[in-house]
Amino acid sequence: MTLAGGRIAAIDRVDRTEPADVTLAGKALLPGTVNAHCHTFQSLLRGLGDDLDFAGWRDRVLYPFSERLDRGAIALGASFAFAEMLRHGATTCVDFFYLQDEGNENAEAVIEAARAVGIRLVLARGMYDWEGAPKRYREPVADAARRTRELIAAHRDDETAVVQPAPHSPHGASAAMIRAGWELAEAEDTRFHIHVAEGRYEGERTLQEHGATPIRYLDRLGVLGPRMLGVHCVWLDDEEIELMGARRAALAYCPSSNMFLGDGITRIPELRKAGVRIGLGTDGGCTNNRLSVFEEMRMTSLLQRVRVLDGAALDAATAFELGTRSGAEILGLDAGVIAPGRLADLVAVDLDDASLHPRTDLLKSVVYAMSDRAVTDVWVHGRRVVESGRLVTVDERRLLARVRELTQGWCAPPAVAGPKCEPQGRPGAAAPRPEASETKGLRLPRRDDEPWST
Ligand SMILES: [Zn+2]
Repeated sequence: MTLAGGRIAAIDRVDRTEPADVTLAGKALLPGTVNAHCHTFQSLLRGLGDDLDFAGWRDRVLYPFSERLDRGAIALGASFAFAEMLRHGATTCVDFFYLQDEGNENAEAVIEAARAVGIRLVLARGMYDWEGAPKRYREPVADAARRTRELIAAHRDDETAVVQPAPHSPHGASAAMIRAGWELAEAEDTRFHIHVAEGRYEGERTLQEHGATPIRYLDRLGVLGPRMLGVHCVWLDDEEIELMGARRAALAYCPSSNMFLGDGITRIPELRKAGVRIGLGTDGGCTNNRLSVFEEMRMTSLLQRVRVLDGAALDAATAFELGTRSGAEILGLDAGVIAPGRLADLVAVDLDDASLHPRTDLLKSVVYAMSDRAVTDVWVHGRRVVESGRLVTVDERRLLARVRELTQGWCAPPAVAGPKCEPQGRPGAAAPRPEASETKGLRLPRRDDEPWST
């Protein structure tokens, strides 16, 4: 295989190797996996809100802790998440990003982190105006549209980062905001992302407030179409599934996150049958809590089996396709397939790994059995970013040390099962930032010698 200009130039047999060639004896080369939905800063909150329902997680962990992250911490969280994803064989990540602070500087810090760590990024630029959310998420419609347009333009010629609009959801964004996101996608010829029907309450609320359930509401707004990536889509009725397919809309499906938060089960076979195009996402690192698309392939298949009580509900080849080619396609990327002309985003796995034994059917083993430990090498845009199981772009030990330093003393809010928060901390433990006054009920810091999770 020859790589050139970030793409696969040719796939051919070679009789002789050149000194610069890489040989992969005992390994299999796979297309890099595509993480179609994530919130990278949430990796810093991992372990804080486990075992809560959605509202508890959002109000007691997500909102208060996301207030603590300055731009440096946002960049650190992104680097931390990107590094973990690459090690797990994800070569593209959608970061649905909404800590805007009324500007684009934070989003630029995430884009820079992706470049430095070496992952392909789709920055889904959040557009949020629900007044219940923290102020730093929110913007007036005109400002959000202008800033998103500027960010798209600033990265139009970027080889490994692309910006797409992302009105938050039917409950997090007004009708005007959702329309503005769709109009931008039309004008700039991009896809757009929106959370849809993650929890059962959303359908009832959208029906009450707008007189229609979420997919019907989006259709009425005129935004349901091939540019739309609906995230989750758990609570759709039969007609909404048909409507989504008829309009050629796409789905970013996050099975582990849906299980973790107790959301419900998206009806994947029905959506596929209706013609909905589907990719797989991990969602944020604190609602999963892993960052592996291979894991999501496995969960996609297992969860549908248990829903329809049929071991043949969704096979390995389909799950693999959703996590690679289909995920790339819904994002408008030329990736997810090993073929001449496609982007050179590749993953090598060690066929000697125990999890890939016995050597019966490699594809099935990759989906159902493979340990992430088997991922040895990763290329993004032709650049080797993981070599023999080690990141070559950043010092992972230093990165983790910075994560520990930042999160020292953070602990789960009271009433959460798990680590106890002690009022006295280790000498030198980081003091809470002033914003911690908004984190009512939190006791800081945690004793460092206590287990972080149960
Ligand atoms: Zn999300």
